[in-house]
Amino acid sequence: MTVKGILRYKFVRQTLYFIILIFSIEPIMNWYLRIGTNFELSSHGINIYISKSYTKEEKDSVYIRHIVDEAIQRLKGKNITESGWNINAYFYYTNDEWDRKSLYYMTDNHAKTHAYLNFMMYCSASLVENKISNYGSIRDLSETMAHELTHVYEYKKLGFLKYLYNRVLCDWKIEGFSDYIAGRTNIKVSEEMNKFENNYPDSSTFYTDYFLGHLRTDYLIRHKGISEDEYWNSYYDIDKLDNEIRQAIKNNEYKFENF
Ligand SMILES: [Zn+2]
Repeated sequence: MTVKGILRYKFVRQTLYFIILIFSIEPIMNWYLRIGTNFELSSHGINIYISKSYTKEEKDSVYIRHIVDEAIQRLKGKNITESGWNINAYFYYTNDEWDRKSLYYMTDNHAKTHAYLNFMMYCSASLVENKISNYGSIRDLSETMAHELTHVYEYKKLGFLKYLYNRVLCDWKIEGFSDYIAGRTNIKVSEEMNKFENNYPDSSTFYTDYFLGHLRTDYLIRHKGISEDEYWNSYYDIDKLDNEIRQAIKNNEYKFENF
């Protein structure tokens, strides 16, 4: 049979199209993200690209290396080590630049990671002060990077299908584990905890989902001592789990720790 003959089958054409799409979208996406940035350095296998709008002082490698080192230390503190991360990290400067580069998709985040497309991206940051801000909300940059790197770790550990499965069906695990490893510090914990203990689901905010994920993960892994594999392989009925956590807090058996 000739090539032309094989291509006559719709299934073959569709499969080819799918393969081309998957393999070409990664370089195209990274090409798009690189526009307007300069490659500054590579640290722990993380290739750092910084928007041309940053000042010379901000681009000083001393600050960048410090931020990456601190993020890596956070992960090491929770026994997450990688010999080389092998990922691109893009830093943008203005909200405008951020909106454009994130394709106007969920632009209220501070950072986004798509490990299967080989990139992490960060909105306007102060590399000198180790801070990241988005429309007035400010966070610690190395803590944010630790959270994003944990997504890369999750992707490598779980593989494409399992990662996607968790992203779609129990995103709290993916975000909760990342917050647990990074030790998120700037969510209004007492406010969210108060809502959780009093069972007010209606008053949830953008941060409530992150908080709940972090709380459940802290409870399961640190408090109950379940292994990471068990965590990823188990199904949790979240209403049941949340009630168990409430009860444990009430009985003074468990206290949430966010570091
Ligand atoms: Zn995340």
